[in-house]
Amino acid sequence: MKITVCIRQSADGEINPFDASAYETALRIKNSEITLLSMGPERTTVFLSDLTRLGAVRAVHLCDKSFAGADTLATAYTLSLALKKLSPDLIICGRQSVDGDTGQVGPSISEMLSLPLVTGVMKADMAEELIAVTRSGVQKTVYLPALITVEKSLRLRLPSIRSKRIEAEVWNAQAFGADILRCGLAGSPTRVIKTFENSEDWRKCRFIEPSELNNVIKAGLEKSMRKATPAIVSEKKLKNVWCVGKAVVNMAETVGENITVHKIENPEIMAEKIRAAGPDAVLWGSDALSKEIAPRVAVQLQTGLCADCTSLETDGEKLYMYRPACSGDIIAKIYCITSPAMATIRTPEEKTERIIIGIGYGARAHISEINKLVKKFGGAIAATRKIVDNDYLPYEIQVGLTGKTVNPDVYIALGISGAMHHIVGIRRSGTVIAVNTDKNAPIFRFADYGVIGTVEDFLNEFLPV
Ligand SMILES: Cc1cc2nc3c(=O)[nH]c(=O)nc-3n(C[C@H](O)[C@H](O)[C@H](O)COP(=O)(O)OP(=O)(O)OC[C@H]3O[C@@H](n4cnc5c(N)ncnc54)[C@H](O)[C@@H]3O)c2cc1C
Repeated sequence: MKITVCIRQSADGEINPFDASAYETALRIKNSEITLLSMGPERTTVFLSDLTRLGAVRAVHLCDKSFAGADTLATAYTLSLALKKLSPDLIICGRQSVDGDTGQVGPSISEMLSLPLVTGVMKADMAEELIAVTRSGVQKTVYLPALITVEKSLRLRLPSIRSKRIEAEVWNAQAFGADILRCGLAGSPTRVIKTFENSEDWRKCRFIEPSELNNVIKAGLEKSMRKATPAIVSEKKLKNVWCVGKAVVNMAETVGENITVHKIENPEIMAEKIRAAGPDAVLWGSDALSKEIAPRVAVQLQTGLCADCTSLETDGEKLYMYRPACSGDIIAKIYCITSPAMATIRTPEEKTERIIIGIGYGARAHISEINKLVKKFGGAIAATRKIVDNDYLPYEIQVGLTGKTVNPDVYIALGISGAMHHIVGIRRSGTVIAVNTDKNAPIFRFADYGVIGTVEDFLNEFLPV
């Protein structure tokens, strides 16, 4: 079976972790003949060639000056043309890149190539047909040709010493007939106007004694969730704004005069209705289904889609969309040169447990006591990537950029340093309490309450558990 894995080299030169999982997924499928495909700058040729040592039989690097500055639509266009030429039975993409963090490229390619799509795959194997198990535990039969996007569920193997390295082929735009006006910046309907430091997630940390923990947790459970209040309310408004689902109405009201709510339907029907009504903007939620359908509608309409916006602004004509970028360290202000402007809005996900204890590397010696305590609280545990990567806890409970998002009323971070990669997964929590021995740990910047002390100090307050 011919499989093409779409791979992106992250800014740090490493393979995007979701794509690493996609590659490993392909390697585990029996009798697969794997081609790696990547669009990127010149350095990507060596990167791809090195990756063939793990088992791919071919690697194709799409490299052309005209590909630079591509947003998700232009990226998906370029990759989909190359994929047409390669014509694999199965395309595997990572769920998202950790640099772009949109999750749009996989669904967009599937729409451009009219392929069935399965997202959020944890495991895939070939029986009579391809069987994919998704994040929600559902087992799906995938009829090929198809495209799947995978979670960061598998760790990529290491090459063996005697492994063979195959030189990647370099394709410029001409090599696969790409229209350069649809590639790179020229083909990108979304444009970044400016970027600035993200202080949105900062909280005012009050340092407390361990003896105050009980009261602080109780108060946190009584208080309602931290509201995702839109930061800007524009004076001038856009005439017509569509909301796909009720969850985005609050945000729509900050920029729209006439707001209508629509239900989510299949991409062709939605595109047809949007074309006929001609709204100025279409806003989507950030649930899994919206994130799967919205990029496909954007392809149908050939319009821009800005992912995971945290606030919106308008001058009455253009829609300006603000979203965290670079793992949440900065905020980008973006607008769309096509109409309608589309955005997925970061809405609080369905509430999970009311209380979650996040276990960081500094709490690794106390996992069983924490597990007992959280049961007593009636909550759940979560983990940082470092704890997961070191095999203390499973990936399913990893929270953050490459894990899931949680939004409990109370999040207790034990022995967690507070890397932005983790914070992006807890930013919608109600009260955040951090326990760390290092008073300068970044986690305190994102906490409402802080205890400078050990995990033992924390646990002692709740003994016997
Ligand atoms: C592309 C990319 C994606 C990533 N995605 C994620 C993600 O999704 N989720 C995620 O969590 N991370 C992610 N990371 C990793 C992230 O950058 C951090 O490395 C990671 O979150 C650190 O985990 P930690 O806080 O458990 O460990 P550390 O950074 O090692 O921190 C441990 C903390 O414990 C404290 N400590 C030590 N002993 C004690 C004690 N006895 N009591 C109390 N405190 C103690 C220390 O002071 C320290 O602050 C990603 C990184 C990259 C590059």
